[in-house]
Amino acid sequence: SFVVTGATGHLGRLVVTQLLDAGVPAAGIAAVVRDKDKAADLAGRGVELRVADYSAPETLDGAFRAGDRVLLVSGSEVGQRVAQHQAVIDAAKKAGVALLAYTGVLGGPDADFALAAEHKVTEQAILDSGLPYTFLRNGWYHENFTGNLAPVLEHGAVVANAGEGRYASASRADFAAAAVAVLTGEGHENKAYELSGDVAWSLAEYAAEVARQSGKEIVYRSVTPEQNREILLGAGLPAPFADILVGVDTAVEKGLLARQNGDLARLIGRPTTPIADAIADALR
Ligand code: NDP
Repeated sequence: SFVVTGATGHLGRLVVTQLLDAGVPAAGIAAVVRDKDKAADLAGRGVELRVADYSAPETLDGAFRAGDRVLLVSGSEVGQRVAQHQAVIDAAKKAGVALLAYTGVLGGPDADFALAAEHKVTEQAILDSGLPYTFLRNGWYHENFTGNLAPVLEHGAVVANAGEGRYASASRADFAAAAVAVLTGEGHENKAYELSGDVAWSLAEYAAEVARQSGKEIVYRSVTPEQNREILLGAGLPAPFADILVGVDTAVEKGLLARQNGDLARLIGRPTTPIADAIADALR
């Protein structure tokens, strides 16, 4: 089977539905979920549900079978992910899966910001497992921005400490399509793909495009890391989360999320989705 973990999340759900849309029979798809109720729509389409929690290794026993081609969607519980991913890798190894694809971060070992640390350790654990693997090193999602337009429209400003740094972002649907290509295609074993958008844009350009589409005045307010941290704390973010976001912006300023080698467009066989399309979707 094709097995997708995190299948009730944004990305995992897109992978499952794109597999179905590509004509893969539902009987050949399994969704690993921790909450069956959230996956009722997938079960309704005939997808097999395997209930497991990354944090409870014993629940992962039945998650995989010999020969499965597995997509491990990295978890969202920052700080716990090394142990969680290790448990998934161990279960996949025990089952004898044919492929373990993993959604890491653009740049892999070169990504020297806090949010990337657990991805690096996970990639190494996968290498150490000896399983056939594919690293899907995902760049920034358009939706990280366009999913959060309300405060931008309200304040007329995009605030960040990313300086003039650029984002080679792509839509979640693009990254999902890459995962589908790797799961269903051939020749992807033991490869690392740097997945990023065809166009790298700056926050000044992003603000201008939101302004154009919304008809509102929107500017990019470039602040220092210290100022951004204060702003985020003032907005009620917990300090560890604020530090992570500030660290990502600093990485962007250094160009770490602007990396482009065309892997994503090549894998999906089409240009990546423009940020303007994601803005239009969000404003609709
Ligand atoms: P979501 O938060 O929508 O999905 C995360 C998925 O992981 C959910 O299905 C969630 O299950 C599942 N999950 C989390 N913890 C566990 C656990 N302990 N056991 C089993 N399942 C678990 O994120 P996205 O789909 O948008 O992104 C996928 C991943 O990509 C994220 O988890 C994160 O690692 C990374 N990411 C990448 C970004 C980028 O810009 N490249 C931005 C943000 C995240 P449940 O549905 O039950 O909550």
